[in-house]
Amino acid sequence: MSAGIMTPPGVKTSGDYMEGVLNTVRAKNPAEPEFHQAVQEVFDSLRLVLAKHPEYRSARILERIVEPERVIMFRVPWFDDQGNMQINRGFRIEMNSAIGPYKGGLRFHASVNLGILKFLAFEQVFKNSLTTLPMGGGKGGSDFDPKGKSDNEVMRFCQSFMTELWRHIGADTDVPAGDIGVGGREIGYLFGQYKRLANKFTGVLTGKGLNWGGSLIRPEATGYGCVYFASEMLKSRKDSLEGKLCLVSGSGNVSQYTIEKLLDFGAKPLTVSDSNGVLYDPEGIDREKLAWLMELKNVRRGRIREYADRFKKAIFMPTDVKLDHNPLWNINADCAFPGATQNEITARDAANLLKNGVKLVAEGANMPSTLEATKLFLEAGILYGPAKAANAGGVATSGLEMAQNSARLTWTREEVDDRLHKIMIAIHRNCYETAEIYGTPGNLVNGANIGGFLKVANAMLDQGLV
Ligand code: NAP
Repeated sequence: MSAGIMTPPGVKTSGDYMEGVLNTVRAKNPAEPEFHQAVQEVFDSLRLVLAKHPEYRSARILERIVEPERVIMFRVPWFDDQGNMQINRGFRIEMNSAIGPYKGGLRFHASVNLGILKFLAFEQVFKNSLTTLPMGGGKGGSDFDPKGKSDNEVMRFCQSFMTELWRHIGADTDVPAGDIGVGGREIGYLFGQYKRLANKFTGVLTGKGLNWGGSLIRPEATGYGCVYFASEMLKSRKDSLEGKLCLVSGSGNVSQYTIEKLLDFGAKPLTVSDSNGVLYDPEGIDREKLAWLMELKNVRRGRIREYADRFKKAIFMPTDVKLDHNPLWNINADCAFPGATQNEITARDAANLLKNGVKLVAEGANMPSTLEATKLFLEAGILYGPAKAANAGGVATSGLEMAQNSARLTWTREEVDDRLHKIMIAIHRNCYETAEIYGTPGNLVNGANIGGFLKVANAMLDQGLV
């Protein structure tokens, strides 16, 4: 061991050291299993790095990188349409600003809690680093559920949420965006209230409307980027998406544009889902059906079971909590694109996917595979694109929106799409080459975790003990 490294008493190997840090994370952040899971997954990869780079250990980079720079938690009171008072909880996790202002989405969903947002903020740090753009990591949101609420209720909630959040964010400080339950409508209400309180028109949020500072391709970016990434993975094995049968879960922003780009590449998407069930269309979801689905979800705000009423060959399978697996992942296919939420692919689902011949998994959702499922994919040697690489196209295009806002310019659709495509190719190359350098060729989990970590860790070393 090199001179100058502080080794805590009784701790010898870097494996022991990391286990010690992980145990501290578990003890100091109780009841946050998703956060523990996200940290463990990254640490599993970083074992390879610490062996080569003792300087990260002596500067206690791991202890610092798991500790948010700031956590803001606040009350969000609002009136519903009946005049009743409603109280929700709001959060913003400002995780790491070593390479740029905090950047990451806002999630509005009944399941939101501190641990889920900390896992998302932690993942975001490495993802944003991989994009090659200067963005730190953050995440926020509320346990407010927009489903079933009127536009006026959503507006009143967003205004109350921003009445606290506005003092903590700014174009050079912290730039939130959308995530589950936060789309164009919500970003509009949030931006309107920010502008009113701050008396500033700045690029403080991304995912804005095109008439007021938004970027072309931002709504499409996460889904498109995920498919560009999948295409690069297949190219590495001299294969392509042409003719591939594809399973897509979720039916929101990410899933819709994943399907659109899969159709561009000549693949055949077969499924979508929401929290009420799974929709399987054996004839494939073509452009006409996709347009109908987008109208259903984005305008009428309906449920996907209605698809089976409209297109008679499609099968709707309602969610059955007694089942020990998700039937969506038990359909014969070549590729899987999880696009709904965390831990939606369990070990059992992963085994079903492998049994049915799936050769590629590209994660549009954040951490959709459990640690056990991830292990099965890696052991099977299939093409496995982890979320922080495969879905980085969304935040990368948010970075492009920030660049356009700063320059007070707008780029064409083709220009933004071309930049997005090149960024996804570069992320894949970085993950692929990093995995090789660290002795685990083809393991894009290691590639993404290590590639994302190195840039942030080196910036932290440069900036001293902050
Ligand atoms: P969205 O438009 O709100 O859609 C979410 C979809 O997932 C809906 O179909 C929703 O069904 C389903 N879903 C959510 N929670 C669920 C649960 N607990 N169980 C079953 N289904 C659930 O959100 P999105 O922006 O597409 O985000 C989807 C995933 O992609 C999330 O993991 C998000 O963090 C990730 N992501 C998004 C972006 C982005 O740019 N938007 C970027 C990177 C990663 P219901 O309608 O029934 O709730």
